[in-house]
Formats: sequence, structure tokens, C-alpha cells
Amino acid sequence: MTVAEKIHNGASADDLGMSEVEWDSRKKNLDAFLQSWNGVRFEEAYLLWVASLPEEEAGTRSLPPSLKTQAKTATKAAADFISSGFKKVARVEHDRRVEVCDSCSDLAKGRCIRCGCFMTLKAWLPSQNCPTGKW
Ligand code: SF4
Repeated sequence: MTVAEKIHNGASADDLGMSEVEWDSRKKNLDAFLQSWNGVRFEEAYLLWVASLPEEEAGTRSLPPSLKTQAKTATKAAADFISSGFKKVARVEHDRRVEVCDSCSDLAKGRCIRCGCFMTLKAWLPSQNCPTGKW
């Protein structure tokens, strides 16, 4: 279950071990997503929705990739995801990837400053990898 889905199901910042600021940011994204969600396949729909947000702010640190590059990356990731038939890596692999990112200095507010992606989502995609070769 994604963090977004947990928040959707009522998990608090404390429940998820995150700051109120991060929780508020994720909740804001989730609320915006829910306005357009058709009620089917939460994870896939949320991932595609997030991937369509090239203008999303990454937080206090600036991202090396331009917004145009981020948009291209997100669009390609979404296209790969769709063409794979919405295939995801196993939960254990997803969690391993997220653990590596969580201890990486290039992670800012859930996003990698190298590629601009939201890592809890990108980590589900078999076609994706860490731009610095950590996974
Ligand atoms: S994808 Fe790689 S560089 Fe980016 S946050 Fe994760 S481990 Fe760090």
C-alpha cells in the first residue's frame, strides 16, 4: 500500500513516522488527485497522476534537472508503466529501493534531486533505476 493510500485510509503523520509538513504536502496532493480519480486502481491511477505533474515543487532544494527534463522523464516512466501492463516490482524490492533512497543525501521531501521523481512511486517501476547506480 502506498503512503498516499495509507493517508487516504486515515493514517496520521505520527502513524507514518513523517513530519506534519510532509504529511500536509502529501495530503494536499492526495486531495487534488481524488477530485479526478474515477475510483479504480488507486495505486496505478495515483502514480500516473503524479507523473503528470511536471510543475510540482520539489521543496526547499533546487532540482538539477530542468522542469522540461523532469516532465520528459515522468512521461516516459508513465508510458513504460502503461506499456508494461501496470507491472510493478515485488513489495520487498520496492521497500529495498525506498530504504536506499531514504538514507541518500539526494532525497528532498520524498523526491530525488537527481531525477526529480517521487521515490516511493518510482521505486515500484521495473523499468526505472537510480541515476547514481545505488539501485
Ligand atoms: S534514486 Fe538514487 S540518487 Fe535518487 S534519492 Fe534514490 S538513491 Fe539517491
